[in-house]
Amino acid sequence: MIQLRNVSKKFQKNESISVVALSDVTLDIKPGEFVAIVGPSGSGKSTLMNIMGLLDVPTEGSYLLENKEVSGLDIDALAKLRNQKVGFVFQSFHLLARTSAKENVELPLIYSDRSDIKNRAANALKAVGLEDRMNHFPSELSGGEQQRVAIARSLVNEPDILFADEPTGNLDSQSGLEVISIFQDLNEQGKTIVLVTHDQHIAEHSRRIVRISDGKIQADGAVAQPKRAAEELSKLQADKTNANQNARLQADEGEAT
Ligand code: ADP
Ligand code: MG
Repeated sequence: MIQLRNVSKKFQKNESISVVALSDVTLDIKPGEFVAIVGPSGSGKSTLMNIMGLLDVPTEGSYLLENKEVSGLDIDALAKLRNQKVGFVFQSFHLLARTSAKENVELPLIYSDRSDIKNRAANALKAVGLEDRMNHFPSELSGGEQQRVAIARSLVNEPDILFADEPTGNLDSQSGLEVISIFQDLNEQGKTIVLVTHDQHIAEHSRRIVRISDGKIQADGAVAQPKRAAEELSKLQADKTNANQNARLQADEGEAT
């Protein structure tokens, strides 16, 4: 599905200074994979994701997306392909503030010729558990709910690949797990997912970890036993229930004496 061959990316900061963000990256991602790209801040994760997601182009090397060479395409051709093939989720949600959840999810449909707009947006919101929040504005939603709206928006055009750049970076750990749990469900239904994160625990929910530093791939391997976000969430819930029960018992004992 994704074939990068010796891809490099150099940013020219000014006439004399340039930054090599990616250096000689060769990487294959097959349909149905769930890959985490991990590495420290500034290692080139976002640059790599932006190139794979057709938001940016390499300065050197070849990129075949679904067997089509895309490294030489112009901006319009990239935009068209991007709209058809890929969905994005970002750390800071990127929702329009004065627009309801449903209208936010409908936005990508405006650029594609889909006739059943209303149903699609509603169904995408249902898929992330937000059917009762469709008419809320982003400011009326929690961070985790806003990110789920962003996930619904990324899915509404039925992309082949979902790219997420630090999607849990602005969330508390429970909301983060809820987001990862949605990705795991989507992947089980066959969606290809590329997740960028600097968080090792989050990465261990994927099925393959590609580690980069200084713009180079350092390691690439399968995750023997991916963590299950849904199980961790039930455990969190059970711990909370236990803590509440203990607090109640203690309060009752206090009254009895
Ligand atoms: P990460 O996502 O791992 O934090 P990035 O891909 O954002 O890393 O950045 C990799 C390197 O490329 C950094 O040194 C960063 O400063 C540089 N870089 C990224 N984007 C640009 C840009 N548009 N212009 C100049 N330098 C950039
Ligand atoms: Mg980044």
